[in-house]
Amino acid sequence: MDIPRAVANFRFFATAILHESSEAHVTDARALNYTLRHPMGVAGLISPWNLPLYLLSWKIAPAIAAGNTCVAKPSELTPLTSNRLAELSLEAGLPPGVMNIVHGYGAKAGAAICEHPDVPLISFTGGTVTGAKVAAAAAPLFKKLSLELGGKNPNLIFADADLDDAIATSIQSSFANQGEICLCGSRIFVERAIYDTFVERFVAATRKLRIGDPSAPDTDVGALISEAHLQKVTGYLDLAKEEGGTIVTGGNRVDRDGFFLEPAVITGLGCECRVLQEEIFGPVVTITPFDGDDEAIRSANSTRYGLSATVWTRDLQRAHRVAAAMHAGTVWINCWLLRDLRVPFGGMKESGVGREGGLESLHFFTEAKNVCVKLA
Ligand code: NDP
Repeated sequence: MDIPRAVANFRFFATAILHESSEAHVTDARALNYTLRHPMGVAGLISPWNLPLYLLSWKIAPAIAAGNTCVAKPSELTPLTSNRLAELSLEAGLPPGVMNIVHGYGAKAGAAICEHPDVPLISFTGGTVTGAKVAAAAAPLFKKLSLELGGKNPNLIFADADLDDAIATSIQSSFANQGEICLCGSRIFVERAIYDTFVERFVAATRKLRIGDPSAPDTDVGALISEAHLQKVTGYLDLAKEEGGTIVTGGNRVDRDGFFLEPAVITGLGCECRVLQEEIFGPVVTITPFDGDDEAIRSANSTRYGLSATVWTRDLQRAHRVAAAMHAGTVWINCWLLRDLRVPFGGMKESGVGREGGLESLHFFTEAKNVCVKLA
């Protein structure tokens, strides 16, 4: 996923900038106002490890398309693809100094970018706690800021859903990239009438997932990023038991080199439990029953996050009504991870501030200036 999506980002913003236009307003035939958009200068870009090239190119491409240079810091856990991108960009003819990749830990290299007075803009993707630190460093310098942060995304399955499709896609949205995607639907809520059937079929499909070498074409689930992260994820499985939940399947270490974990399904926990409130960011989902639209909406919105949500129903009116009620920057109806790069992307509540994507990115990476010309 990482490389093709990174290519798509560069292609998209390379052409998007050709379609950029500026607004003009005639004021009562007395004046003409028009908007100029200038590059900001040096863009500070910081990204996480989970889709390392894709997430960084989502920032680099619009930043340089809009005329900025950039200083980009990838995660120290996954520094190599961005390093290679910088080498290839020189080979492709990008002038030296336009795309700068800086390596180093966040507390030092990342913080230095956020605190630097000559970097007027920061685009950050990562965890919510780190996002707060970035915001605190950037605020006194009045930097333009975009924060794409964590998620605890709900996946609502109504009784009238196409169950085959809902189950197949929910397996993807739960366990793709080992659940290490900010948009994964980690909290599944199922209407009570189909709850037992859903759990039985979802668990059976989970058990069929093939765990193994991530570069093998028939592998579904690879290893987690690090031992520390594996311990964090298994810590939540222990917590799930303490909170009274049942691990219906998975959750065991896999006996092979690397930080492999069987995809896990937890039932029996309510929305207030920490396991349903905190981002786990691994191959772990909870399944909880609900009765009716109101409870579905309340459950979906019951966390401090608001990145994305998925709704499965064949009732057109309900689909639109529930989508409008979701506290989420993106709502997918009967699908997941279908992306159109023209639409605004970002989170509500503690999933972030600002929107990137399409024109929003090109506007974020520029400063607008109004010119008012007196006509008469
Ligand atoms: P972190 O927040 O730990 O790190 C993100 C980046 O910030 C890394 O490059 C890190 O450097 C750097 N960093 C750490 N501390 C600071 C600091 N004080 N100042 C500036 N930069 C700093 O996130 P993870 O790498 O663990 O990534 C997982 C998180 O990212 C999850 O919460 C996930 O939901 C979120 N995410 C959000 C997305 C979205 O679009 N909303 C998309 C993908 C992921 P280093 O680690 O090298 O020290």
